[in-house]
Amino acid sequence: MLTLLFLLLPVAMGYGWFMGRNSIKQNHQTAKETLSIKYSTGLNYLLSNQQDKAIDYLLEALKLEDDTVEAHFAMANLFRRRGELDRALKVHEYLVRQKHLSNKDKEQAAFELGKDFLSAGLYDRAEAMFIKLLKNKNYCLKSLTYLMQIYQSTKDWHQGIALKKDIVKTRDKKIMHSLANFYCELATQALADDQFIEVIELLENALQQDQNSCRANWLLAQVYENHQQYNEACLCYQDIYQQDKDFFPDVIERMYSCYRELEAEEEFYIFIRKVYDETGSTSALIKYVSYLEDSYGNNRAKEFILFALKRRPTIHGFKHLVKMQMLSTEQQSNIENLDVIKELVSAYLNVKQRYSCRTCGFNSSTHYWSCPSCHGWEQLKPVRGLEGE
Ligand SMILES: [Zn+2]
Repeated sequence: MLTLLFLLLPVAMGYGWFMGRNSIKQNHQTAKETLSIKYSTGLNYLLSNQQDKAIDYLLEALKLEDDTVEAHFAMANLFRRRGELDRALKVHEYLVRQKHLSNKDKEQAAFELGKDFLSAGLYDRAEAMFIKLLKNKNYCLKSLTYLMQIYQSTKDWHQGIALKKDIVKTRDKKIMHSLANFYCELATQALADDQFIEVIELLENALQQDQNSCRANWLLAQVYENHQQYNEACLCYQDIYQQDKDFFPDVIERMYSCYRELEAEEEFYIFIRKVYDETGSTSALIKYVSYLEDSYGNNRAKEFILFALKRRPTIHGFKHLVKMQMLSTEQQSNIENLDVIKELVSAYLNVKQRYSCRTCGFNSSTHYWSCPSCHGWEQLKPVRGLEGE
């Protein structure tokens, strides 16, 4: 009898193991079914535009399975893109609170939450989220970019400059360019208050962050002009030409007045001829033609501008040609006809915008250092082509 019991023991153990395994499988199966029901119910609500019910069901599904995290990020980002920020916030806040999520997912949720706060205009809360992420190497640059965006919107230039250490570490040209403009903003204020030494220090800092900041050179030239240091101002304008040929037409007149103060107009015209040859700029052409007119007479100047306009026609150039034609015509009726053409061209040009943003295409008749549409720094430059330079 005892022997029989011993023989049955492995069978009993086997039966117990088999039943236990079945029970685990069953529990797992039940959990899966619950997840599947909650998940599909959530998706159904989402598709039938009942977003709030959908969120509740999908968040419940997340409690049961981490595999749905990506779907939650996608859903929240979709809400944000549609402007439904309260819903995006609800999902991201929920994700941040989940203890069982991986660190990677929690960091992503915190970053996305910061973006939600920013979109909702809750700058202080967005700022707090991005500052927390500065130590994280995956989110440092992105967080710095958003922080600079926040400080630009709130005109808190000092706060932006306080991030200098972190910004310099990234060596990212775009964000260094942004930092240089923060220094330029402070320099503009100091210039208005006539604090010469402070302006120079701030502009040196700006050029340290971005040696191609033509705005810093533009301000520096202004400081030198105010102190009758025309040689230095001329050098700044020459630097601007090297830094940004598209922006240069805007400084031609100021550069000319500095050379005139130095009684070095000949030198200026050699430079402006070079600018015209290299860029085909209409402002440079008109300036050079005025020199030809004064030095060699109307015919030589007209010959030059006609040749230039055939090669590269612009409406500004045409208007100047009409003006020159009026000066060399003696017959009154011809002068009157030319005047009508000139007025017509002027009226046409008056409704055209002088500047366009090279990033977003925003047009404006006024120059802004920061584009009012995309907020990019130093992107508004004189329009090129038939109606521009
Ligand atoms: Zn823009």
